[in-house]
Amino acid sequence: MTADPPTVLIVDDTPSNIDMLRSVLAGSYRVQAATSGRRALDIVADQPPDLILLDVVMPDMDGYAVCRRLKSDAQTARIPVIFVTAKNEARDEELGFSIGGADYVAKPFEPAVVRARVATHLALYDQTRLLQQLVDERTVQLRYEMDQREDAVARVRYLHEYDSLTGLAHRSLLMQRIDMALETHPDRVAVAVLDVDRFAAINDALGTRLGDLLLQQIATALRDAAGGTAFIGRLGGDSFGVLLTSKSRVVDQLHLINEHMERLFEAVARPYMLEGERIQIRISGGVAVHPKDGETAELLIKSADAAMHAAKDATLTTYMFYSAEMNSASRELLTLESELRDAIRDGAIKPWYQPKFDLKTRTLVGAEALARWVRPDGRSIGPSVFVPLAEKTGLYKALNQRIVHDVCVQARSWASNFDTPITLAVNVSAADFQYPGFVADMLSIVRDTGVDPRMIEIEITEHAVIADPLAAADKIGVLAGHGFTTALDDFGVGYSSLSYIRQLPIHTLKIDHSFMGGVGEDERADAVAATILTLANRLGLTSVGEGVEHEHQMQFLGANGCTLVQGFLFAGAMASDAFETQLLRH
Ligand code: C2E
Ligand code: CA
Ligand code: CA
Repeated sequence: MTADPPTVLIVDDTPSNIDMLRSVLAGSYRVQAATSGRRALDIVADQPPDLILLDVVMPDMDGYAVCRRLKSDAQTARIPVIFVTAKNEARDEELGFSIGGADYVAKPFEPAVVRARVATHLALYDQTRLLQQLVDERTVQLRYEMDQREDAVARVRYLHEYDSLTGLAHRSLLMQRIDMALETHPDRVAVAVLDVDRFAAINDALGTRLGDLLLQQIATALRDAAGGTAFIGRLGGDSFGVLLTSKSRVVDQLHLINEHMERLFEAVARPYMLEGERIQIRISGGVAVHPKDGETAELLIKSADAAMHAAKDATLTTYMFYSAEMNSASRELLTLESELRDAIRDGAIKPWYQPKFDLKTRTLVGAEALARWVRPDGRSIGPSVFVPLAEKTGLYKALNQRIVHDVCVQARSWASNFDTPITLAVNVSAADFQYPGFVADMLSIVRDTGVDPRMIEIEITEHAVIADPLAAADKIGVLAGHGFTTALDDFGVGYSSLSYIRQLPIHTLKIDHSFMGGVGEDERADAVAATILTLANRLGLTSVGEGVEHEHQMQFLGANGCTLVQGFLFAGAMASDAFETQLLRH
């Protein structure tokens, strides 16, 4: 296939000139002709030629005018124009070139010269066109690549600056914003930290997927509540940072900061619906003000964090302003957390055993295992300190498994060394009982240690059951099916809903020691304790009176049909070797 020959347009008001040029070019080119400038422009617009031979002197519109028009239009500007002039005509070559003419040929024509010039300029035009095409293609390619690169850069920056789960700014971007605010108005900056209470336990109970969903909903609530007035970031985990700026000195505007915090808490600390489940959470917060609580973004966040931790420990407030003592308190807490981790791993937290006796026969029937953390300096820390800490830090599972494991090993050893049949009771917290793998973990500990599960009693607080009585009944049923005994601990404290207790497959009711105080002395205390005992007896449950310190309390319990007792009147919690001595005596 041969390409079409190039097209040459000849423009001349003298037809004989056109004929002459046509005869020179006809063999190699397709030739068009026009006898006026206007006609030439029409043809070019209609069917642009590859080259134009343009007479300079023409009536109406001369060659230069035609050339100017062609060059001013991007569509036609590149078509090479060769001016044609008579030898005797005054020619203004400079003008011709300056308006974009490519060359000149003179009348009368020298055919070889005309052909040579036309061929040269067509070749040049061809190459320019090719080059232009390459440049255009490359430009498109480059632009595409640049767009891609810009997208990638924007994506990387987004991932770096924003959290992919919640869409909130990352810690680094929040810090940048705080620093910027500090540069412009150093006396108008406050920083708040908000943190979900016991999130580790909630996350374990819900599963990570719903836990993530909860964090997303909290983030959305925060963002909506902040509107345009505060900048929110996710500091990590379940912890959020807020940059608050005031219109004048922040120390004079603390009431506004208070209002803002109230608004945030109102929006965030509310029940959340997660796939049909209603989740109530508690959030704690801390506020730090520049410059008194910290000079830099880093220090402000740190102080707000310390205040947040102090608020968590407080029962009545949800958020607090920073004060200097808090830092040392939070440092202590941090150390305690890492020590707790080590203590669980190294077995420094051990079960101690508080004996339980049958009230009628006065015989030793077993013990309640109570966790004790004996520290290197000999000081012992009670569970009321480290169990909440374990729940706060997510260490509770490890703690629970460690204690239950040790108790099972102990029960097995005592069962083979002593004839006295005993049960050992272990305490499980609400967080323990509610995490999905709890029952499976219990079963595997029993399997691993080879203990008879009938020796192990699991004490569950009412508080753990009340959140979801149906699920609790299921779990207790499975445990009972495997031979475990179960007890409802702290009965009568707080919830005492009698409607669910009938449906729970439990064996034992423990009357909380807080009731024991007035028993035998105060009629109302007597009434409550007697009612609980009647309830236990009517339901065929074993009852345990705990915290028995005085003879008259024991008399009362005996008279009202209580089955078992434990308390300082008989013995406190003791290490395993001391309990072994008790077993020997029986
Ligand atoms: P609880 O289940 O109500 O345990 C009884 C508490 O009463 C124990 O405190 C025990 O030492 C104390 N007590 C025993 N006899 C008397 C008495 O006659 N008078 C008085 N006033 N108190 C007495 P402890 O050991 O400090 O344990 C506190 C709570 O910590 C326990 O309450 C239990 O809920 C929890 N706990 C203990 N060990 C563990 C554990 O291994 N895991 C979990 N999750 N919680 C535990
Ligand atoms: Ca208990
Ligand atoms: Ca109790």
